[in-house]
Amino acid sequence: KTALPATSKPTVSQYACQRRTTLDNQNKIFTDAFEVLAESNEFLDSRGQCLAFRRAASVLKSLQFTLRSLDDIEGLPCLGEQIKSVIEEIFEFRTCSKVEEILRDEKYQTLKLFTSVFGVGPKTAEKWYRKGLRTLKAVLAEPDIHLNKMQEAGFLYYEDISKSVSKADAQAVETLIKDTISYYSSDTKLFLTGGFRRGKEHGHDVDFILTTPEIGKEQALLLFLIDKFKNLGILLYSDFQESTFDIQKLPSCKFEAMDHFPKCFLILKLKTGEQTAGVQQNQNDSRDWKAIRVDLVAPPADRYAFAMLGWTGSTQFERDLRRYARKERRMLLDNHALYDKTKHAFLEAQTEEEIFDLLGLEYIEPWQRNA
Ligand code: ATP
Ligand code: MN
Ligand code: MN
Repeated sequence: KTALPATSKPTVSQYACQRRTTLDNQNKIFTDAFEVLAESNEFLDSRGQCLAFRRAASVLKSLQFTLRSLDDIEGLPCLGEQIKSVIEEIFEFRTCSKVEEILRDEKYQTLKLFTSVFGVGPKTAEKWYRKGLRTLKAVLAEPDIHLNKMQEAGFLYYEDISKSVSKADAQAVETLIKDTISYYSSDTKLFLTGGFRRGKEHGHDVDFILTTPEIGKEQALLLFLIDKFKNLGILLYSDFQESTFDIQKLPSCKFEAMDHFPKCFLILKLKTGEQTAGVQQNQNDSRDWKAIRVDLVAPPADRYAFAMLGWTGSTQFERDLRRYARKERRMLLDNHALYDKTKHAFLEAQTEEEIFDLLGLEYIEPWQRNA
């Protein structure tokens, strides 16, 4: 009997930027478990553990098939012993005891609730939890808690912005912004980015990139827009951050680092055409609008491709693009630029395709970046 050649499984890269990950996740039962484990470790401030679970989830999301047995994970990257035992447990019991335990945990539930408020991160949530607070009402009633402007808006519009934004809402916002920028200049361009560009049907906000062909003209654009929104009576909250962009600076490949383009985090009043229950104090009044979170970023035209690549996400995809550039190419990539450490030179690009090319990567379409 001749031995059959080993069935060659396609190899899966350890880097999300070398995998095509659509929204059609065949392994949700496993990835949901890993996301809970990741989040719980994030709350515990265990960065390494958190990332390990996120990476595992990301690898499984890219698979074209559903895991059936432990044989299926052989040869897959980022699935260490700890991860394997979770998968094994799910095979056997359809659930993971550790995950169940986390979901029942009062602290996890409370931190999850607190961080669902716009402007509240894990640190603040932890502080409130330690004060013995367990509900949003309790936070608001606590006399010695000082909310910043962002958190104040987060509580005020919580009903609306804790719900997801639909694609139709995103399109309505797009139309609204398009109409408004036409007053700035006829050649200002608007691009949808973030999760909706990756093809998602729902998101927590709507992200846009705006540019003007003339470099420098983008500088005043966001303030112009904010002013217009104010005059239209639709600006509920605005946090504008001016440009700190310096082309001389080397890319900071640290993913968490904010980029340096002018940007704003907004809450806008979007007319819905239908009656919705009122917010907070006017609970009984009906209204025909809802509050929506909108992010705008305005890079100079020659930085557009880098900004677009950086803002399209997903977060895991971005992390791995930077890690890949650094580890495999000795290059530094961020939302502004690509720097070749071997050549001691910045590499220029006008499109995302060119950036993938410079990195020696096959082009991955936005809807394949749902890592
Ligand atoms: P969702 O549908 O939940 O909004 P998303 O993928 O659009 O998902 P966002 O938090 O809106 O998530 O972020 C979109 C992208 O913008 C991310 O990939 C992230 O890299 C980038 N991003 C977000 N905030 C900043 C920031 N302050 N500076 C630089 N990049 C940012
Ligand atoms: Mn988004
Ligand atoms: Mn956003």
